[in-house]
Amino acid sequence: MAIGLGVGLWAGVATLHDQIEDDTGRLAQLYIERADAVGDDIVQALARIRQSPAAPCSDADLAWLRRIVIESRHIKSAVRLHDREMLCSSTLGKLPAPTGRATADFETSRGRRVLVDTPLIGMPGVRGMVIEEGNASVVLNREAFIDKVDPRLDYTVVADYDTRRDVFISNMPPAGLALRTLVSGEPVTVDGRRFEVRCSTAHTGCIVAALRDRPRATGSPLVMAFGLFGLVGGLGGGVGLVSAIARSRSLSRRLRAALGNNELTVVYQPIVRLADRERVGAESLIRWRDTEGHAISPDVFIAVAEEEGFISEVTRFVLRRVMAELADGLRQRPGFRVTVNLSAKDVLDPTFAGFVRHELQAAGVSPGAIGFELTERSTADHDAIGRGIQALRKAGHAVYIDDFGTDYSSLSYLAQLQVDMIKIDRSFTLALQEGAEQSLMPQIVAMARTLSLGLVIEGIETDAQARIVAGIDRDALGQGWLFGSPVEASHLFDAG
Ligand code: C2E
Ligand code: MG
Ligand code: MG
Repeated sequence: MAIGLGVGLWAGVATLHDQIEDDTGRLAQLYIERADAVGDDIVQALARIRQSPAAPCSDADLAWLRRIVIESRHIKSAVRLHDREMLCSSTLGKLPAPTGRATADFETSRGRRVLVDTPLIGMPGVRGMVIEEGNASVVLNREAFIDKVDPRLDYTVVADYDTRRDVFISNMPPAGLALRTLVSGEPVTVDGRRFEVRCSTAHTGCIVAALRDRPRATGSPLVMAFGLFGLVGGLGGGVGLVSAIARSRSLSRRLRAALGNNELTVVYQPIVRLADRERVGAESLIRWRDTEGHAISPDVFIAVAEEEGFISEVTRFVLRRVMAELADGLRQRPGFRVTVNLSAKDVLDPTFAGFVRHELQAAGVSPGAIGFELTERSTADHDAIGRGIQALRKAGHAVYIDDFGTDYSSLSYLAQLQVDMIKIDRSFTLALQEGAEQSLMPQIVAMARTLSLGLVIEGIETDAQARIVAGIDRDALGQGWLFGSPVEASHLFDAG
């Protein structure tokens, strides 16, 4: 009996181990396939940059570079170099003088130089990943490869496994790996822990991965952030992670309670037409002041609601509140549009469109009066999100991509999603101060026009910024403190 139990237990444990190894292998393989797709995109773009039939950095050449970016899924900028110095790019046009970057982190055996995380020329405060080959170079968001790792994995991705060994990205200290021979499908043991290995056949790279020992808050943005921290600092952020999650749990309990007891309110920030500064709409923004009167930032509690799985309740609260507060005003002002921020979960929720229809019908508001904003990041799962977006547009709502430019998707990718408008993140408006030629705004505006996308420019704080932006695109809309801070519903339609 005891032996039988023992054998049964042993068999159970063994099966569990097999299962874990299967899962790890599957997740590692998935990573390699996704990373290969990004790699293919990069290699193709580098080749196309070099094939330009036009004189380097001529107008025709710049158009050629822009087309490459528009057609690529991951590349943010296509760059022409000479002796490693940047001459022109799809985003900045021709530079006044050749500008060099830092030395590469490593060079692959195929002669590609990689800068994993470097300041981007012409974008103060923004960093990205740069890959150079001969006189061609591409810029991508540095998360392009990190986002493809399942958050349940402890992992190290190495480049060039057959010659040297360069750590590309990692969320664990990669000590000990340098000495191993890595062969796809042959696990390695480091410090007594078994890691699955999967290597790319198309590109020179391998992932070495193990499922985490303890289940952590899988898929949470916190974990991704710490993964990134681990990459930069070379160490995982264990203690900080645990306390951050503990804090978010208590915040989550308080937020759930707040939903039920009137601590949440909605304010509205005007959106104007830049040509004549007339108010044509507003964005609804949630506010939370807790029972002790402390204001908690939506950036913080929205992330908690997403992580803890009750963002739908928050979104539905906002939409109901918009109807309760603004239905009359909206009925009297055809053409005025209020936008509501959504998370990916809302768009994927098959009952959401029906909920919206019901609320609007009950309030007598037409669908054209309500638009929806989605951040770039939440559109990562292209197919399903694309279907959700089309369902909302079919119902008569305009769909906006929020904070455009802060993430890794290219404009063409967003064009394939078929949205109506993009909201250009305020970091680009900020860069206008440094001189319009240093901001990416004109290039983004040009690309948006090619793709027939409407534009809202975020974060306009000064008259000078408003005038520069109106000069770049007279049809664009603007939002920012210059035109009005977020106000309560009762003040939205005051003369502004
Ligand atoms: P967002 O959707 O990009 O909203 C714009 C943010 O920029 C708002 O911050 C707004 O107050 C701020 N802002 C507006 N004009 C200016 C300006 O001229 N200069 C500067 N520096 N900032 C300006 P807020 O209200 O703190 O919201 C932060 C983020 O929280 C929002 O960014 C949005 O992503 C999220 N959020 C807010 N309300 C909701 C909501 O009801 N649902 C969801 N899912 N997310 C929300
Ligand atoms: Mg927004
Ligand atoms: Mg925004």
